[in-house]
Amino acid sequence: MSITRFSKKRILVTGGAGFIGSHLCERLLDKGHEVICADNFYTSRKANIAHLIHNPYFELMRHDITFPLYVEVDEIYNLAAPASPIHYQLDPVQTVKTIVHGAINVLGLAKRLKARILQASTSEVYGDPHVHPQTEDYWGNTNPIGPRSCYDEGKRCAETLFFDYFRQHQVDIKVVRIFNTYGPRMHPDDGRVVSNFVLQALFGKDITIYGDGSQTRSFCYVDDMVEGLMAMMDTPAGTTGPVNLGNPQETPILALAEKIVEMTKTKAGIVFAPLPENDPARRRPDTTKARQLLNWQAATDLDTGLSRTIQYFSELAGQE
Ligand code: NAD
Ligand code: UDP
Ligand code: UDP
Repeated sequence: MSITRFSKKRILVTGGAGFIGSHLCERLLDKGHEVICADNFYTSRKANIAHLIHNPYFELMRHDITFPLYVEVDEIYNLAAPASPIHYQLDPVQTVKTIVHGAINVLGLAKRLKARILQASTSEVYGDPHVHPQTEDYWGNTNPIGPRSCYDEGKRCAETLFFDYFRQHQVDIKVVRIFNTYGPRMHPDDGRVVSNFVLQALFGKDITIYGDGSQTRSFCYVDDMVEGLMAMMDTPAGTTGPVNLGNPQETPILALAEKIVEMTKTKAGIVFAPLPENDPARRRPDTTKARQLLNWQAATDLDTGLSRTIQYFSELAGQE
């Protein structure tokens, strides 16, 4: 009988106090690892990690990743970046600095430590895609000078840096492209469609559809996303990605609104507002590569994920 010894790692999660990051920190601690969370709380709330603070294996570092950081770790998940259009457009220059300078700093750290490093990239690198669904070899259709560019071009540049550090300095990189993710601890005020619709429904306010609601997104529940991130981190050295992570079930925004109306039994109506500039018409990941390489696929259906999210926001609304 072979005895496999669990190896406890020390893991840095930048942006670990955020929506996805806080769930990731929690899962890594559950698995017995030590976690250092580096976050400047630019778009997150301390409440997201309040329940972890007294865990002896959890360490919180208030740190802005546009500045160098010196810690000793085995693995790095780089999630720090404002992620919603409202947040990343508040201060676009800071968004680029966080994404690009931040990538340089964590890559420099990984290079010094010979640590494995995973970049949370985004479906936005595909821009308003001409190829549907998006496979990883599609180069995308982005606008370098538009209002979303600080984020999508920033993330494209960060991917470039990851692959240059891999080719030039042999850094053990992993790149995943995250598609729309939702669940408990989404920001109530970051304008994302799921949080907006759920809160509008709970407060009986009109549900605001931008455009005619025919545009689609594919929504992945946060627990599934975290499993995907960890599965990618555990692939052999040299498996760099990029790999799409998301739920391939495509939903028109109007259908999402109708589902949330039905699930919350709200009396709120549905109203239509102008579509923001450069808002992609369709988005759905091709997750073949994730299934093959990681043996991973999103397991939570939209009804189950939405009901947990509605529960979270109902409790949050009750506290305020
Ligand atoms: P989030 O805003 O909740 O989390 C980002 C975290 O990064 C926050 O805690 C924020 O305070 C922190 N941060 C921002 N700037 C920082 C800086 N300069 N230094 C240190 N910390 C900083 O967003 P999220 O939805 O959890 O996204 C996490 C990552 O996943 C991001 O990199 C985002 O681009 C990527 N992503 C998310 C989605 C999604 O649907 N949520 C989709 C694609 C990609
Ligand atoms: N860096 C860091 N922590 C480290 C090592 C490097 O934050 O432990 C930062 C450092 O500030 C540098 C960046 O990472 O600017 C890139 O590092 P690299 O070694 O690639 O470049 P260099 O130091 O030669 O400019
Ligand atoms: N959206 C909407 N009403 C809202 C918020 C968003 O109709 O209150 C639309 C938005 O225009 C986009 C889709 O929902 O077409 C997803 O928006 P989100 O900001 O959540 O994600 P992203 O555009 O980054 O995929």
